Amino acid sequence: MDALIVSEVELPRDFALMASRYFDGLIRFTVVNADLSGLWRSYLDPRRGQVRADLLLSVIGHALRAQHPGFGRYVAVVNADGYVPGLNFVFGVAEGDYALVFTARLLGELLVTRILKEVIHEVGHTLGLGHCENPSCVMHFSNTLMDTDRKGPGFCPRCMVKVRRALIHPH
Ligand SMILES: [Zn+2]
Ligand SMILES: [Zn+2]
Repeated sequence: MDALIVSEVELPRDFALMASRYFDGLIRFTVVNADLSGLWRSYLDPRRGQVRADLLLSVIGHALRAQHPGFGRYVAVVNADGYVPGLNFVFGVAEGDYALVFTARLLGELLVTRILKEVIHEVGHTLGLGHCENPSCVMHFSNTLMDTDRKGPGFCPRCMVKVRRALIHPH
């Protein structure tokens, strides 16, 4: 499967290859750098200073698919903070073929690694994987940045079985 990552943060050249490796090469990632603020600015809640993630997700997904047809998955890495009703913030969201990762809470020396983990986590959701109890698995739920820094970027053996099943025998 081919997957496209459109990132507002400039990512290193080997990012796509690193991401592919954690999917055993079953997903080939392409990374492009682009300003997405034209798409997310209207979903910014001015009082919260946060973007409404669930509403933006399908809009941005459809827009990316229209601009870059032919990919099986679309991931947007957005330079903002996201939330959904009922949660103070989200690191990312995913539904259908689309995923969204927010960088505002990932800033620091580990930014690129954190983005990598969140991208892999959200793409894992698009493959049908749920959250994993193993705190070192990339599918472990991150409540805090500490959780993100402790886990992944790799899948635990049980989640890897699910990844392979989703990608080798897709329905
Ligand atoms: Zn999750
Ligand atoms: Zn796992």
